[in-house]
Amino acid sequence: MIGYMGGRRLLDSYGRVADDLRISITDRCNFRCIYCMPAEGLKWLARDDLLRFEEITRLARIFVQRYGVRTIRITGGEPLVRIKVEELVGMINAIDPTLDITMTTNGVLLRDKAQKLAEAGLKRINISLDTLHADRFHEIARADMFARTMDGIEAAREAGLWPIKLNMVVMQGHNDDEVVDFARLAREKGYEVRFIEFMPLDGDNIWTNEQVVPSRRIQEQIEDLFPLEPVKDTRPGPATRFKFADGRPGGVGFISSVSQAFCTTCNRVRLTAEGGLRTCLFSLNETPLRDLMRSGVSDERIGSVIETAIWHKEEGHLINKPGFIKPAKNMSQIGG
Ligand code: SF4
Repeated sequence: MIGYMGGRRLLDSYGRVADDLRISITDRCNFRCIYCMPAEGLKWLARDDLLRFEEITRLARIFVQRYGVRTIRITGGEPLVRIKVEELVGMINAIDPTLDITMTTNGVLLRDKAQKLAEAGLKRINISLDTLHADRFHEIARADMFARTMDGIEAAREAGLWPIKLNMVVMQGHNDDEVVDFARLAREKGYEVRFIEFMPLDGDNIWTNEQVVPSRRIQEQIEDLFPLEPVKDTRPGPATRFKFADGRPGGVGFISSVSQAFCTTCNRVRLTAEGGLRTCLFSLNETPLRDLMRSGVSDERIGSVIETAIWHKEEGHLINKPGFIKPAKNMSQIGG
């Protein structure tokens, strides 16, 4: 195990350093969330088009050892539908067991996987949960999996995956009346609930600005009952975080991509399941790394391609600005 070899960082032309790598390991999912996947699903990538575990691990090693990346987030589609995902977690953990390895999942398969993932080196977890009502769960996720998701959250706690963050995409007219209930759940269970503004990355093209519930409004609703105190984070991240002023456990966070963009401090880059390097969630193009790797080039060569791509990272997204173009890929093909 070799840690960061020091020296180089992944700098972009706006002075930001990329040290948070999000790796999508599959485009497949067992849900059809209305803010993400088309109702009819997608034509899945062929097996050979997906990065193999060895290839994902090699790229992760380059990011960690050459460029000091410290956080690796495993995403999808739904990462737990990829067979033996815990083996991949173990391979990444072997690069550096002090790495902050986390995952974003819909939680349905966690009862089977949580313990194995924790033993393999997963440190913490984000679980998508958009409602506390089974009927509404079906409306939003287009799957009857509410009970299994709630059980998956419990399984994560039992396996010691902590903190547990619940990702709630708030949509006007769908679940915006539940934000206080989610804050109450956070206080009861000690979770951190992250309220995510609905972004134009959906497969059914239903996104409108009117459906976006600005974080400011959610925060005001919560603070009417539960006063909040800001949490100072040591590293940049997408969420503005708060704890409960009365000392109760848990907390809330706001990911305000639409109403208060946070691109000036963005430290994230993404790898798609087929090995495309995306410098921004809203990138209109990617730097393909899979075939480059399969052509037999050195880590040095791959590293220089990554450096060049990140140097040209976008300044930020242009949502609600002239010139905004919705990416051709939707959220499930990019990974959160
Ligand atoms: S929109 Fe792009 S630049 Fe802005 S925070 Fe998200 S990934 Fe970073």
